[in-house]
Amino acid sequence: MDVSGRGQALQASLAGAGCDALLVSHLTNIRYLTGFTGSSGYLWVGPTSLCFITDGRYEEQATEELRAAGVTAAVIIAPGPSATRQALRDQAAGVGHLGIEADHVSWAEHNRYATDVFPSSTLVPSCGMVEALRAVKDSGEVARIEAACTIADAALGAVAPRLEHRLTEAAFALELDAAMRAGGAEAVSFETIVAAGPHGSRPHHTPSNRVIERGDLVVIDFGAMIDGYHSDMTRTIAVGGLDALDATPRRMMAVVGEAQAAGVAAVAAGVSATAVDAACREVIAAAGWAEAFVHGTGHGVGLDIHEAPRVAATSDDTLRGGHVVTVEPGVYLPGHGGVRIEDTVVVTESGCRTLTRAPKS
Ligand code: ZN
Ligand code: ZN
Repeated sequence: MDVSGRGQALQASLAGAGCDALLVSHLTNIRYLTGFTGSSGYLWVGPTSLCFITDGRYEEQATEELRAAGVTAAVIIAPGPSATRQALRDQAAGVGHLGIEADHVSWAEHNRYATDVFPSSTLVPSCGMVEALRAVKDSGEVARIEAACTIADAALGAVAPRLEHRLTEAAFALELDAAMRAGGAEAVSFETIVAAGPHGSRPHHTPSNRVIERGDLVVIDFGAMIDGYHSDMTRTIAVGGLDALDATPRRMMAVVGEAQAAGVAAVAAGVSATAVDAACREVIAAAGWAEAFVHGTGHGVGLDIHEAPRVAATSDDTLRGGHVVTVEPGVYLPGHGGVRIEDTVVVTESGCRTLTRAPKS
């Protein structure tokens, strides 16, 4: 992973945000900017300096991980809040307008910053400065997301035949998670969703003790993690094949499959996220199920499972080359169940490349 240059890109956006310096406190953003994977630290970003502050527990790890990040200084402090505040106070000397990550600082922390830690600076609530950089992935990031997707593909391929063995949703989810870990995932991306039969009408169903039966549609939404990067894929599988389904679930499969393909076909650099959402939504509306597609079409995927850009009817985002997004339309009909099909794709100038490749049939 080449993190050099990310700090400088952030420094270039300081003036436009009205900040003389920015305190990055959100650990995921610190990981993106520096490669640091520890659970305690701050990155102080000045116009020409990057100073990393952590405590002695992480000294060895920080030295090793920050080497390539262009960090100009590291301050190692004693663990605990008072040493942290003093180190931050020292950095703020002479800083007029200090940006803080408004999306990640609690009310109580903000009050401490304003009254105790940075009383001489004007605090500037900044939103999304690092997240905007994170939205466009470099080749090292795409490679990690793709590796995570490949592990998830293989895990589903290995355990899908078990759907015919009358496992519970929870037992199947556990086998899928174990297969991802055995395949090299450092963790699962999020709590795996397995929703069989009527449970499928709840988009975020928690796997239960319901036994998976022949004739069920099973919505399986899951992902693997590699180096902190997530994969995200949903497949809906008809247990016993499409012929085992009733007419309505069979039609749901066909409509969502067509909607999902239309959404993926619409993805390209320069296309508005709303156009991708509309491509999916039009197919589902034409089938008479507009009200049954109850969520947005997709989201960015990276160090967070949900990040910029947002693919939805209300999104202001325009797709750019290097965005990694999901396309995941669904139809949810109480009593019948649900169908969702989701791929993770990387946006290119001419279209996109699909990173999740498990079969949809
Ligand atoms: Zn998903
Ligand atoms: Zn998703």
